[in-house]
Amino acid sequence: MSRIVFLNGSFLPIEEAKVPFMDRGFLFGDGVYEGVGVLDGRLIDNEAHLERLERSLGEVRIPNPYSRAEWTHLQEELVRRNGMTEGFIYFQVTRGVAERDFFFPENAEPTVAMFTQAKAIANAPAAEKGIAVVTVPDMRWQRRDIKSINLLAQVLSKQAAKEAGAQEAWLVEDGFVTEGGSSSAFIVTREGSIVVRPLSQAILPGITRKSLLWLSRESGIALEERRFTVDEAYAAAEAFLTSASNFVLPVVSIDGRPVADGKPGPITQRLRQLYLQMASAPAMAAE
Ligand code: PLP
Repeated sequence: MSRIVFLNGSFLPIEEAKVPFMDRGFLFGDGVYEGVGVLDGRLIDNEAHLERLERSLGEVRIPNPYSRAEWTHLQEELVRRNGMTEGFIYFQVTRGVAERDFFFPENAEPTVAMFTQAKAIANAPAAEKGIAVVTVPDMRWQRRDIKSINLLAQVLSKQAAKEAGAQEAWLVEDGFVTEGGSSSAFIVTREGSIVVRPLSQAILPGITRKSLLWLSRESGIALEERRFTVDEAYAAAEAFLTSASNFVLPVVSIDGRPVADGKPGPITQRLRQLYLQMASAPAMAAE
């Protein structure tokens, strides 16, 4: 079966999905995107992802082509047509096709593209062993709260991490960790509280982060929303990251130094279990 993607109103085999040369996404990175995890064929936290998409589109003044109900229908249809039960669904909206000029085009229609990627999330090997991260300077722009398709800084940072033998880059500004190249960054202090950077324009408001904060409050785990330094991360009892395509992933080494004993920590593992339970019983979070 050929992989089916969605482009501008049609479901079609990927080989037939063509975007015009003058698309502003291609020329300027003029667009925004979202990524949603899929477990047992169900979209996880989708309402919150659609809400963030609306916000990103509003901030860059691209009209939202679909209502939330329409988006959901298209996403579910794409998952169904690809027979995907576990993985990730990616969707992006660009400002459309027009002769190259920086000013917004007068009559362009947004380009909408969506595809699925099958991936083991619940039983990912990385969740058992944990991953290594390395810190790199955060060289991104000043509106990181917008989920822009401009990801050159993340591409370079994550490649640098890979070349250093790690799986994720932790981005650092003024000595403080902002977030991961494509994930939210957390540590757990020796006293057992979770520390995560507060929301601002310096980071993306992670949807998995939001659910994780809800889960930790519900289960009585102490939580501090504040910035943390690289040195605090080195000295932490545990560290982990969250993202739609990984849920909760233990971080067991930072810049080649083991985090505590270099094994996934108990609070991280508990939170991962709680998140998996929530993803399997989505009604819980809506209460
Ligand atoms: N931060 C950045 C920079 C990201 O790119 C992502 C996900 O792609 C996240 C955080 C995690 O966000 P979410 O949990 O919504 O996937």
